[in-house]
Amino acid sequence: MPRTVHAVCSHDCPDSCGVLVTISDAGHATRLRGDASHPVTRGFLCGKVAKYLDRVYAPDRLLYPMRRRPGVPKTSLPHGREAEAFERISWDEALDTIAARLAAIAREHGPESILPYSYAGTIGVLGYGSMDRRFFHRLGASRLDRTICSETGGQALVSVYGRKLGTDPEAFRHAKLIIAWAANIHGNNIHLWPFVEEARRNGAKLVVIDPYATRTARAADWHIPVNPGTDSALALGMMHILLRDGLYDRDYVARWTTGFDQLRARAAEYPPDRVAALSGISVTDIERLARDYATVAPAVIRLNYGVQRSDNGGAATRAIAMLPALIGAWKHHGGGLQLSTSGAFRWDREALERPDLMLASPLGRPARIVNMSLLGHALTGLGNETLGSHPEDGPPVHALFVYNSNPAAIAPDQAAVLRGLARPDLFTVVHELFFTDTADYADIVLPATSFLEHKDIQGAYGHYYVQLSSQAIEPLGEARSNVALFSELAQRMGFSEPCFRDTPDDLIAQALRVDDPMKQDPWLAGITAQTLEAAGGAQHLRFHAEHDQPFLPFAEGPFPTPSGKIEFYSSSLAAQGIDPVPAFRPAAESRHTPAHERYPLEFLPRKADNYMNSTFPNLPGHRALESDHSGILEMHPEDAAPREVAEGDVVDVFNDRGSIPLRAHVNGGVPPGVVAARLDWNKLSDGGHNVNLLTSQRLNDLAGGPVFYSVLVEVRRAASRHGSSRGSVAASVPPSAPNPADLR
Ligand code: SF4
Repeated sequence: MPRTVHAVCSHDCPDSCGVLVTISDAGHATRLRGDASHPVTRGFLCGKVAKYLDRVYAPDRLLYPMRRRPGVPKTSLPHGREAEAFERISWDEALDTIAARLAAIAREHGPESILPYSYAGTIGVLGYGSMDRRFFHRLGASRLDRTICSETGGQALVSVYGRKLGTDPEAFRHAKLIIAWAANIHGNNIHLWPFVEEARRNGAKLVVIDPYATRTARAADWHIPVNPGTDSALALGMMHILLRDGLYDRDYVARWTTGFDQLRARAAEYPPDRVAALSGISVTDIERLARDYATVAPAVIRLNYGVQRSDNGGAATRAIAMLPALIGAWKHHGGGLQLSTSGAFRWDREALERPDLMLASPLGRPARIVNMSLLGHALTGLGNETLGSHPEDGPPVHALFVYNSNPAAIAPDQAAVLRGLARPDLFTVVHELFFTDTADYADIVLPATSFLEHKDIQGAYGHYYVQLSSQAIEPLGEARSNVALFSELAQRMGFSEPCFRDTPDDLIAQALRVDDPMKQDPWLAGITAQTLEAAGGAQHLRFHAEHDQPFLPFAEGPFPTPSGKIEFYSSSLAAQGIDPVPAFRPAAESRHTPAHERYPLEFLPRKADNYMNSTFPNLPGHRALESDHSGILEMHPEDAAPREVAEGDVVDVFNDRGSIPLRAHVNGGVPPGVVAARLDWNKLSDGGHNVNLLTSQRLNDLAGGPVFYSVLVEVRRAASRHGSSRGSVAASVPPSAPNPADLR
């Protein structure tokens, strides 16, 4: 009899869907569906994961450890022929080789010359960070500052409220005004959409603030195409109007906030006409937006992480996050703001990751920290004083261990990243399901499991359910989970601490602190693997004794900030030399800066709606869904005409960092002055490079985040109009050393 197993989609998505997997008598997964009993999943999966068995059983899946054949240079490999550059080896040989090389590198150059590189290829608690962290801490490897995606936004939210909490998605149904600020709900947060639609059926309006006409913007009541990187100005302009017209909640502000006078003074600098000039939104529309926001209740903002991926992104996130506090929106069921809910899940990270093991490493101290957004620099300049590195920066990177990520495709300043990965002296291990752009450069490739093939526990960053993800099928081929890999590798390296023998069940119990209920987080109280299983896989966090009470995270204080109040003025940021009150500052690459004269178009390197960052582009079914957008540059007619670019022309999109060929789609979803293209794999892109050839290693204003959406380019029609066939055009990369100005 076929049976059903409850798993959890562990891809980097706020929805963390409960997934019911049908297993045949032969042990094969035959069907995936959304868990109908999960109040957010509501029985459906997105298009990406509905076709997930295409990925699990893909014919080109990596099933065995492999090693680069002698003499094969490190470079991008033709899709479908990657395995020719490698030869199969046993797990024993792979682990022995890795252990020996890491030990030798640590001896010769110090353990900090080993760099782990991982992110949210899985967001399961164990797969994201547990045994792997223990291993690298015990080794004394460099620590990775995981800034690539959400760190700036998270720190911005915490600087205002003290904790990453937000409006419950299930409360959105009660809203009367929903502002999707840089949030493509329909594209990559689809399980919020039914609540938005329910609210709209009850009279709510949906406003989308986004430079790009996303699927969500096209379905909205009002789309406001703000200029890229000017969100802080728009938020401060809204505040200006709220304060000028007395439309703020005096009582809430007086009781629960601090720094109001400083914020008032700052907002006074942003009258509507100035904000209109910066943001591209008319004075009339700014006035209407602010008035609607202040007078329609409940009003909720779904803010997403695009805003923080620009030079001014920390300040912009802070400014937007302050809006609901000014109007007291947190008091209303269905009001407030949601950027992330992840701060509600207080796993015992210390127990899982064991940072104390760094003291048992040869270093005997905490290891250095390397910012993952500067991977290109880390691999090409770190430890090299002629390229501006300081002695205190530590040694060059001699070994790179990649898992849960594909930096050759997703890291900024791709030319620098690929130069680093191509170093013959760099020992690179990649743990993956497929020959990604990064695996092409590996010395050793190890096969990884999908979320159907291992056990994990998971929270979410878009809802408040804890879920157990049971193992549905045996690992394909010789694939191993992150926990199994790093447990075995630790033992090969002679690490004798018992924690390296912990099983997934042990780790889940540690994450929940089940052995010490007194120390259990109150919101996780009573939740164990057993209670989760008994509940069908998911349990809501225990915010209240009675589950039917609404969760209003910031309706009243005290708040977990240094002052105990919502901080319009942040002394902590001031102490770090960061403006304690948000302000608009133009990005180094924007229409407001001199660089614009040379490269006059603002470039949005967007995620693909049908992929999950760089996961899925290699699967034919997913590619077919994305076919209208692959290799396309969206342009406004006003920008195409003076460049004599017509629909379908091949164009070169370029700046000082490189040039990529794309096909023009004139009249696309962008306003004048903005062009957009979607992320793909390099080796599946014409010319062999994707949009990250054009992005920089400049860092933003808070937490060292990248500036993917502060990029200037120029576009010119390629030499042979209409004549180029796909694959016949080449990307070009200047042979330059890293530009120190990009490393600010
Ligand atoms: S990617 Fe997101 S929406 Fe799709 S199944 Fe996974 S969690 Fe659900």
